[in-house]
Amino acid sequence: MAKKVFEALEQFVCDTDDMCAFALDFTDGSFDITPAGCFSHILDGTENPLRQLSESKNIHEGDRTVISAFCGDLLCADKVPLRENHFIVSFRVDTSDTDTPEYKWTTLTIIIQRDERQLAQYLVGHLRLMNNAELLNKAITDSFTNDKHPQVFNGQAQRIIDDTSHNAAIVQFDIENFKLINVKYGEEKGTEILNYIKNGLDTVCTNKQVYMRLSADVFMIAMSYDTPDEIESLIARIEDRLGHYGDISYKLVFGVNLVTDRSLPMRKLGDRTAMARQSIKGNALQNVQYYAENQESRLVTKKFIEDRMDYALEHGEFVMYLQPKYSISTSDIVGAEALVRWIHPEKGMLPPMEFIPVFEKDGFIIKLDEYIWEQACKAIRRWIDRGVEPVPISVNISRVHLTDDRFIDVLDGLVEKYGIPKRMLETEITETVENAGDEEIIKRLKERGYMLLMDDFGSGYSSLNMLKNTPFDVIKIDRDFFSEFMLSDRGKKIISHTVSMSKDIGLDMVAEGVETKEQAEFLENCGCDVAQGYYYSKPVPQTDFEHLAFGDK
Ligand code: C2E
Ligand code: CA
Ligand code: CA
Repeated sequence: MAKKVFEALEQFVCDTDDMCAFALDFTDGSFDITPAGCFSHILDGTENPLRQLSESKNIHEGDRTVISAFCGDLLCADKVPLRENHFIVSFRVDTSDTDTPEYKWTTLTIIIQRDERQLAQYLVGHLRLMNNAELLNKAITDSFTNDKHPQVFNGQAQRIIDDTSHNAAIVQFDIENFKLINVKYGEEKGTEILNYIKNGLDTVCTNKQVYMRLSADVFMIAMSYDTPDEIESLIARIEDRLGHYGDISYKLVFGVNLVTDRSLPMRKLGDRTAMARQSIKGNALQNVQYYAENQESRLVTKKFIEDRMDYALEHGEFVMYLQPKYSISTSDIVGAEALVRWIHPEKGMLPPMEFIPVFEKDGFIIKLDEYIWEQACKAIRRWIDRGVEPVPISVNISRVHLTDDRFIDVLDGLVEKYGIPKRMLETEITETVENAGDEEIIKRLKERGYMLLMDDFGSGYSSLNMLKNTPFDVIKIDRDFFSEFMLSDRGKKIISHTVSMSKDIGLDMVAEGVETKEQAEFLENCGCDVAQGYYYSKPVPQTDFEHLAFGDK
C-alpha cells in the first residue's frame, strides 16, 4: 500500500475504543485497518472494509440497504467519476458481544483522493460512535414530527451559505397535484408517499446537502456546490429514486435558487426558490426552474406579447416545428403535427402555452394559425417537389375559428395555392363541452374533404359518449389520460376498451405524449398503432424533421 495512504490513515488518531479507521488503495486493491475497537466484529481485516460493511449483519436491519448502496457506490469509485470527495453517513451498529444486540449510532466518514480523471485512487474511512452532542442534535432533528426542526435546518443551511469557499444553492420541490393523489389513492397513501420521500432524502443527499420538509409536500434542500452539474445530478437522483412510489408515479416540480447574495436571510432565499418553483406549475414541458434576479420582469407579460406580436409575425419570429408521429409496430414516421414556436431574439424560445392563451383572447390566433397552416402546406409542397413520399401534417385549429366557417375557405385557398392533396393537410380540434355546438362547422370541414383529428381526448371534457356519432376520423389520446390510467389494472382496462371500441366504430387512434417504451408497448397491445411523444422525438425544426423522415433522400 502506497506511503501516501498510510500517511492519510495516520491522520485519524484512534486512541479510544469508540473509533477505527481504514484505508483502501484502488490501484492495487490493498487495504489496512487501524485499531477496530468496538467495531472489530464488523471490520476484522480479512476482507475489503467497504465490502465487509456492506454485508455486515451487525448493522441495524433498517440501515442495511442504505449502507450497502452507499458502500456499493464507493466500491466502484475507481471506475465512475465521483463529484464529491467527502461523504458522511450514519447508521446503527450492534456493539455487544452477547446474543442480545445493543445498537449504537455510528458515523462513517469517507475521504477520497482522486486522480486527474476524477477517478478514485485511494480512500480513507473513519468510523466512530456518535458523541452526546451529536445524539442530541439527531434527537431534535427526528423529534419534530419526524422532520428536521426548522431551527436545526436553518443553522445548517446558514453554515453552507456562509462558507465562501463553495457556491451555495437552495432547491425546493413538491409533488404536482398532490391533492389528486390523496383523492385517488386515499390520504393514508399520500402520507406514506411523503414519508417515503422524506426518508429517501437521507440516502439521496450527500454531506454537502441538508434538507427539511417545509410543509405538507414541499421539501427544501440547502447545498454547497462547485459546478452547476452537481445540482443537476442531485435533481436527477431525486427524480430517479423518489419520483415514484411502487407503481404510483407523480411529477416533482423543482425551483432552484443559486445564492448570489449571501447576506440575504434564509427566509428570503426560500421565498425566491418557491417563486421559481411556482412559476412553472402546470407547465407540461418543464419541471425545473432557476430563480433569476429579474424573474418578475422576465415573465412574458400580456403587454409585451401584444406590443410585439404583429412585428414578430412579419419578421419570422414564429416558426413551425414538426413533431413526428410513428407507427409503433414498424417504427416508421407516418405523419407530423405542426406546433408553433416563438423564437424571440432576446428571450429565446417561448413555448406556446405562454402566448397562445393571450392570442385566443385577443383574436390574433386567427392570423397566427393561418400562418402556420401555410407553413405546413409549403412543407408538403417542398416534399412533393423533392420527390420524397410526403407524410401528412396535422395543424391545430383553435376553437376561436369555429365561430364561423370562413376558416375552411382559408384552408381551401392554401391547398389550392400550393397544389397539394387535401388529405395531406389534417386538422386537429379539441372537442370540449363548450364547443359541442360547433358540430355543424366541424361536419362542414369534413364534407369539404379534410381529415379530422379529435385533440386531447380524455383530458377532462371528452367522454366515450362523444364518440358515438362523431364526424371525427382519428382520436388523439391525451398524454395525462393514458399515463395516469396506466397505473392501475382498472385504468388499463378502460384504455384498452376505449381503443377497441373506437376501432370497432372505425376511428383511428394516435397516442400523444408517449414518453417511455413501456407506454409504447402497452398502447400497441391495446391496438393503438400510432404514437407521438418524447420517447420517439420532440417537436423539431422542419429540416431536422426531414432528416428523420426522409434521411438523405
Ligand atoms: P397539443 O396540440 O396537445 O400539442 C401537443 C403538446 O404536447 C405539444 O406542446 C408537444 O410539444 C407536447 N408533447 C409532445 N410529446 C410530448 C411528450 O412526450 N411529453 C410531454 N410532456 N409533452 C409532449 P407544445 O408544442 O408546447 O404546444 C402546447 C399546446 O399549444 C398544443 O397542445 C396546442 O394546443 C397549442 N398549440 C401549439 N401550436 C399551435 C398552433 O399553431 N395553433 C394553435 N391554435 N395551437 C397551438
Ligand atoms: Ca394538437
Ligand atoms: Ca393534444
